[in-house]
Amino acid sequence: MKVTVLGSGSTGNAVLVATEKTRVLVDAGLSAKQLLERIAAVGEDSARLDGILITHEHSDHAGGLRVLLKSVNCPVFISEATENAYYSTRKGVSNGDSEAVKRRDVLKNRTEKIESSREFRIGDIDFEPFSVPHDAADNFGFIAKKDGVRIATLMDFGHVTTLIKEKLRRCAAIVVESNHSRDMLKTCPIYSWDLKQRILSRTGHLSNEDLSDWLTNDFDGAAREIVLAHLSQRANEPHLARLMAETALEMRPNFFKAETRITISYHKQPTDWIEF
Ligand SMILES: [Zn+2]
Ligand SMILES: [Zn+2]
Repeated sequence: MKVTVLGSGSTGNAVLVATEKTRVLVDAGLSAKQLLERIAAVGEDSARLDGILITHEHSDHAGGLRVLLKSVNCPVFISEATENAYYSTRKGVSNGDSEAVKRRDVLKNRTEKIESSREFRIGDIDFEPFSVPHDAADNFGFIAKKDGVRIATLMDFGHVTTLIKEKLRRCAAIVVESNHSRDMLKTCPIYSWDLKQRILSRTGHLSNEDLSDWLTNDFDGAAREIVLAHLSQRANEPHLARLMAETALEMRPNFFKAETRITISYHKQPTDWIEF
């Protein structure tokens, strides 16, 4: 099993999880054109996607879905709450129909209902989803499992819950949000006070500081690779996020020294494949 982050940041997110037999696109937050280009750039064929898994309705995770569905034939794995929230967009009318009507049309007979806390399978990959605290209808992170290998992906969550700590044990790789530096966010001149409060809240986005706290105190050291994702382009710096995570790893108790590599994902290009 292998994973690549096709693109990640405040403006758009997509991850590809694959085995020899199966390819699953996780979220479609980039434009359809970008998604198709990047799937090709990592050596996969978008015509052979087995499913698109949507974690939540926010546009940086589902904004490219409607147009993408014109170019691919696979089903969309989505929870009922997220699907309904996806349709309740206030985006305006163009070419006669509202965005909400177009979304309903394009998803008709193409969805596979999933639940955010019940295991499901796509091809030969088992998915173990789990709820995360975020201001969306039904956001979840998940563990993708194949032949005993566990790969975790979780973005858009305001704090690390007990459930999250539990799920992240024994993973070979973890793709995890490291959204902002708290200081950079607080002093960012572009974001409004309201938006800053939203991001900083318990159901907003995870800070570098919170991720560091988890790395030092709760990470079990099992993952060979940790990919930092969903970095804010305005309130974070890739080198700062990496430095904080690496420092946090160093501060773990010595008797369980982790051999973990930290990599950063970017909004403009895919990461290398991480393969097991
Ligand atoms: Zn997001
Ligand atoms: Zn979100």
